[in-house]
Amino acid sequence: MKIICIGRNYVNHAKELGNIITSEPLFFLKPSSAIQPKGHPFFIPFFSNDIHYEVELVIKISKAGKHIEERFAHNYYSQIGLGIDFTARDIQQECKEKGLPWEKAKGFDGSAQISRIFIDKSSLDLDNISFSLEKNSEQVQIGNSKEMCFNFDTIIAYISKFYSLRIGDLIYTGTPEGVGPVKAGDKLIGFIGKQEMLKVLVR
Ligand code: ZN
Repeated sequence: MKIICIGRNYVNHAKELGNIITSEPLFFLKPSSAIQPKGHPFFIPFFSNDIHYEVELVIKISKAGKHIEERFAHNYYSQIGLGIDFTARDIQQECKEKGLPWEKAKGFDGSAQISRIFIDKSSLDLDNISFSLEKNSEQVQIGNSKEMCFNFDTIIAYISKFYSLRIGDLIYTGTPEGVGPVKAGDKLIGFIGKQEMLKVLVR
């Protein structure tokens, strides 16, 4: 399986990092080793002093496809989960300045936190999914799928022009504003609506 992440999909988040909005979806990959083994805490990697959380809605691909038309894209996923795209912001900044790829800042072990629970899309209004993240019991991020620059179907159609999608692939659909740093001892809890989806202990 592969993990595809969309960048700058929420205007206010792009602004908070001083980024321009792109006219097409911007995406990058994480290796499958970025998924945290179940029940493990998240260990801050030694090479960064500025690890940020980014809470994101995640599409799980349920049917293989390539060159998927947007009007058929809904047939390729049946569930939505929640994830955290952990980012070494200091390394990412350095990569951006040098025009280098981001993978070093985005693909480390544990950088792809994913909920164990996924919600059937039939029980969600896909254009109005609210989600949020608490750090140490304080809400730090709140977002809604209606604020995405590119919706789920557009993202799937676009990515599948370049990569074949396979069953089990995960697509992180971008983070809203409010990203920030974590330190050892922090506890993050992510929600879709009021449902607790994932919990991450930082070490
Ligand atoms: Zn992200």
